[in-house]
Amino acid sequence: MPFPLPPDRIAAAKAFAAALKPGGRLCITTHVNPDGDGLGSEAGLAHLLRARGIEAVVTNPSPTPERYRFLFRDLPGVDRSGEAVKELRRADQILVLDISDVGRLGMLSQTVLERGVPVACVDHHVSQGHLPDGPRFVDPEASATGELIFQLAHANGWPLSPEAARALYVAILTDTGGFRFSNTRPATLRTAAALLEVGLDPEQIYLDVYASAPEGRARLLAETLQTLVVEAEAGLAWVTVPPGALERLGATPDDLDGIVEVPRSIAGIRMALLFREIAAGRVKVSLRSVGPVDVAAFAKPFGGGGHTKASGLSLEGSLADVQATVLASARAYLAGNGDAGG
Ligand code: 5GP
Ligand code: MN
Repeated sequence: MPFPLPPDRIAAAKAFAAALKPGGRLCITTHVNPDGDGLGSEAGLAHLLRARGIEAVVTNPSPTPERYRFLFRDLPGVDRSGEAVKELRRADQILVLDISDVGRLGMLSQTVLERGVPVACVDHHVSQGHLPDGPRFVDPEASATGELIFQLAHANGWPLSPEAARALYVAILTDTGGFRFSNTRPATLRTAAALLEVGLDPEQIYLDVYASAPEGRARLLAETLQTLVVEAEAGLAWVTVPPGALERLGATPDDLDGIVEVPRSIAGIRMALLFREIAAGRVKVSLRSVGPVDVAAFAKPFGGGGHTKASGLSLEGSLADVQATVLASARAYLAGNGDAGG
């Protein structure tokens, strides 16, 4: 069955692929605390490129969470995140996935900026940032970066192995919250269908991603949900990761994935937040919205960003101070309707 892709996207995908040349050292990287989309896109692309004779290594600023290590089991030696700086210093080309802002590369930002080689990018975020020049394949309408990697393969006639298809399915599955969020478009489900047709086992993928959790993840969920505060009049609900809980429970930031969906699920809530101390004096806030509230626009003045309905930011200050600042701003934002102009 032909997969519908407009001619301009096919041309863009061909131009992007032509810029990826065999022979040189190619490093693929994504944002700090990589998620299923960042890692699935990396593994999927590494398989696709390998089939074309292009060897790439993955050099992320954070280690790959246990949950996603299965994606690299049939790519031995490819995940070089432990030696990312060393690998990036030798790279002839860098390919950044699932972000358009070098700042989101955390401790690798400086290395990437200093390297002075072309920085290619495949991304679906609305928030633009700064990235050194290089080929681009970007579409904020795409559900996930994995959907864009699929388009690259499709437009260029690259065959999808089961391993590549599985990785891209993980990318789309996780970034759409299991095909539930507003980014689940007809094209998203057509892409997922095309991936399943390669011969994937969706239940096994579900078990690998969502049902192979360490005990600490369930306990972290329990402790964090205990902190729930609801301000029904304002349309606000938030939870706070108890300081030290990750270390005490042997959990990782990846284990927090999805917790903010619980305050978001309460009737009448328009903005849900999750607060977490990421270092002494630095707090990360995850933001989710319901309806027309634009949390990417909300996060922008704080130096954050993301998508209209899912964004993040981090601020200097104590947990209490950052909560006070962000919640006061959220109340005012929602009182002014909370859309991009509000
Ligand atoms: P999460 O809250 O799950 O970490 O992230 C939700 C979305 O917001 C993702 O698309 C992510 O890329 C974006 N995001 C999270 N934290 C930050 C941040 O500190 N800065 C920017 N620009 N985007 C972020
Ligand atoms: Mn993504």
